[in-house]
Amino acid sequence: MTLAESHGAVCVGMTGQVVEVQVHLSNGLPGMTIVGLPDTSISESRDRVRSAVVNSGFDWPTGRITVGLSPAFEHKRGSGLDLAVAVAVLASNGAVTDSQLAGSVFMGELGLDGSVRAIPGAVAMALGVVRGAGPRRVFAGQATAAQIARVPGLQVIPVATLREAVDVMRGDIAIPAVPETTDDIQMGVFPELSEVLGQPLACRALEVAAAGGHHILMSGPPGVGKSMLAQRLPGLLPPLTDEQVLEVAAIRDALDGSGSEVTRVPPFCAPHHSASHVAMVGGASGAATRPGQITLAHHGVLFLDEAPEFARMTLECLRQPLEDGTVSIARAAVTERLPAAFQLVLAANPCPCGEERTCRCSAVDIRRYSGRLSGPLLDRVDLRISLHRAKGIDPGEPSLVVRARVAAARRRARSRLADHGQWVNARVPSGLLRGQLAPTPRAVAALERYAAEAGWSRRATDRMARVAWTLADLAGCERPDLDEIDEAVLLRNRASAVRR
Ligand SMILES: [Zn+2]
Repeated sequence: MTLAESHGAVCVGMTGQVVEVQVHLSNGLPGMTIVGLPDTSISESRDRVRSAVVNSGFDWPTGRITVGLSPAFEHKRGSGLDLAVAVAVLASNGAVTDSQLAGSVFMGELGLDGSVRAIPGAVAMALGVVRGAGPRRVFAGQATAAQIARVPGLQVIPVATLREAVDVMRGDIAIPAVPETTDDIQMGVFPELSEVLGQPLACRALEVAAAGGHHILMSGPPGVGKSMLAQRLPGLLPPLTDEQVLEVAAIRDALDGSGSEVTRVPPFCAPHHSASHVAMVGGASGAATRPGQITLAHHGVLFLDEAPEFARMTLECLRQPLEDGTVSIARAAVTERLPAAFQLVLAANPCPCGEERTCRCSAVDIRRYSGRLSGPLLDRVDLRISLHRAKGIDPGEPSLVVRARVAAARRRARSRLADHGQWVNARVPSGLLRGQLAPTPRAVAALERYAAEAGWSRRATDRMARVAWTLADLAGCERPDLDEIDEAVLLRNRASAVRR
């Protein structure tokens, strides 16, 4: 045979995609050409594949070999296509048949000795295979196979060498078993809310944030427990679903290959304010796209301590993710979209020096400091509380108890909002809050009164209504009433929060 075809997978950004590998044998000067926008690591695959094939005891075809990768318009990166190229070459040579190759995707880098090695981004690729319409059987190196075994809807076949892959395809040996993984994804460990002492209002605000998916700003002097509280938010959120677990694993895997450590606790990212722009939002790193902290916080919590100290450009870059849950990364030739749907927790000192008692900051300094958090960013932050030093030592409630209330409130919100295409109160559009989803008439009147007294903008009033809905969901009542409005106002202790 002179034309053969196999399937491999690549990552474009964080999205896995199946690639068709065609091999054509023709008469002519011996050599191998790879076409279809391959990067250098794929071009180098020529030499690796040849050595691996020969060292596995197969004949290398004589004549000219042309390898075509399609879709040709996507830039393909990495060495993960080696195995797919090698089996297609072997098929062109008759070592395996077309029907033996059909229905499989091959993922793995080849060693010169023919061993199949692990590849970065395998979880994302496996998810891409499942989402695609093509084959569902995946040959992969043993470490990779263990990593992707959780992806539902795939038959994963671990192989140590190219030879073993061929033997399995030919039916010469039995299909090897996937290495053991624990079936149950553990909830994992998270810091306990009950360790927070004497901050009942802050604990309540955190519960409301978790229940409604509200972004939150905490302001208060250093050492008052802002970081401690923020770290406890993931433990109050609903555990990740199976699909979310895999998406989070795919991102970790693309960053440092640690995608196999899975847990259901939503991720928590707390970058320092000196973190570079690229570290925060992601960017190119060599040939690959490196996810930033906002992508690592996908399905979890992004905590910015001393938020006004972050570079203005970095804070501005949070707006797109807050809007649609993704971040666009422009690279030389392409723009990639990475997932970045996170819950934002901002912390700020009341003034630039942060010293409560000895503060000598001028009013101008304080205004400039708080002004660094721009209006468009703060517009998306529904909850703003100010923290003071704890007066008592009453412990917070256990995280498990609060999480159960959060889950019940979220269920209520989801069933109400499903018709409107939303799932949490934080994302309910203003129009609905003033129409179909308005609080009770007397609650609306009370809200208008508060707004008139304090001079709130329309948007600020809408944020109150969103929070009031979450309070109603937590209380199990039909529609926000006076109590919910009062508490929403209390949770928005505007006078002493960062002034905006
Ligand atoms: Zn000061």
